[in-house]
Amino acid sequence: MQKLKLHWQILIAMVLGIGVGVIFQNIFNGNPEGTIYTLITSLGVIFVRLLKMVIVPLIFTSIVTGVSGIGGGKSLGRIGTKTILYYLTTSLFAIIIGLTLTNMIQPGTGVNLGLQESFDHSKLQTPGSPADILIRMIPLNPFNAAASGDMLGIIFFAIFLGVGLTRIDSKHSEVLRNFFNSAFEVMMNITQLVIKLAPLGVLGLITKAVATSGFGLFAAVGKYMLTIAGGLSIHFLIVLPLLFYLFTGISPRKHYSAMASALATAFSTSSSNATLPVTMRCVEKNAGVSNKVTSFVLPMGATINMDGTALYECAGVLFISQVLGFDLTFSNQLTIVITALLASIGAAGIPSAGLVMIFIVTQAVGFQDADVAVIIGTMLAVDRPLDMMRTMVNIFSDSVGASIIAHSEGESLYKV
Ligand code: ASP
Repeated sequence: MQKLKLHWQILIAMVLGIGVGVIFQNIFNGNPEGTIYTLITSLGVIFVRLLKMVIVPLIFTSIVTGVSGIGGGKSLGRIGTKTILYYLTTSLFAIIIGLTLTNMIQPGTGVNLGLQESFDHSKLQTPGSPADILIRMIPLNPFNAAASGDMLGIIFFAIFLGVGLTRIDSKHSEVLRNFFNSAFEVMMNITQLVIKLAPLGVLGLITKAVATSGFGLFAAVGKYMLTIAGGLSIHFLIVLPLLFYLFTGISPRKHYSAMASALATAFSTSSSNATLPVTMRCVEKNAGVSNKVTSFVLPMGATINMDGTALYECAGVLFISQVLGFDLTFSNQLTIVITALLASIGAAGIPSAGLVMIFIVTQAVGFQDADVAVIIGTMLAVDRPLDMMRTMVNIFSDSVGASIIAHSEGESLYKV
């Protein structure tokens, strides 16, 4: 077992988790309990807590080191432009796939969800408007942002600090740069230790996911789930690898296997943020992308570039309109495309964030909360597996972006 590669260990843990989960699901009928169950699922909780523990110091030191390493404003501007361009293009590709599939398959037409049923609305928080999200990126107090895990705020301040370091006299910047460099190395090392525990963590997380999900609802909205799963697969298995190959000339297969641990972590945690340390490690150590590029592309990508979520926002709102029997005009659909993009940018990299953001998109086309809340409630009930898949797509897109940008900057990938 010790010699087995980590991603195989994780795969075995997943299969085991499904098996154990099914057993608990059957014994306890969806409400599992008991010492053994608690012990196994605690492994997942511990793993996620360890990952979360390293996130703030890791991304902070990484961005400061990376941005200050990029050098003057010119190269920062160049990498920045490429990054944003990549984020927008791939997210739009994903949205178009979602739009096309949902229009073709019509998963919501004729679905009866018994819209009279009451649903606990307090479970769903309505997010702020897209403009709010942009303004909130600027933290009032960077220490507060760090303490509360406000990712966009941390990223914003770290980029500024990095830029500031390139603009001052080396007599002053040297000390701080060395400090952040060393801190970053330590954080990467701690991350590596945490990743070693991934198989145990994944076992706990998957067991819990399987043991607590009832299967009844899944059947009613099966077509909806298949549509989204199909769209995500097209993006994950065709579009992204094609882009990767076209721009780097390297076999995508290599990249999938380099990213295996990160993909499995994303799948089992449903959180791009929690996966970020693993993503960074895989892209740097396995694919050989420089810290200069990863530190810029990945942390920002984890919150901003969410292809899977973008696809989901679009397909989800079309599904809602089909359930309501509402015919969308072309301009409605265009609004959906644009707001789906903004919602995916604004969604936090945490479980179910994408579902909450769907409110923004539904409001943009004029659906009232009360009408849609019950449908969204149903979507919430079956969200976990879809969330696992879209998170995997989200972080895979970040990793492809980092590789393409590194390659375009003249770095040679996969040297090792
Ligand atoms: N869970 C996703 C992520 O962390 C966001 C979403 O809910 O779509 O990437």
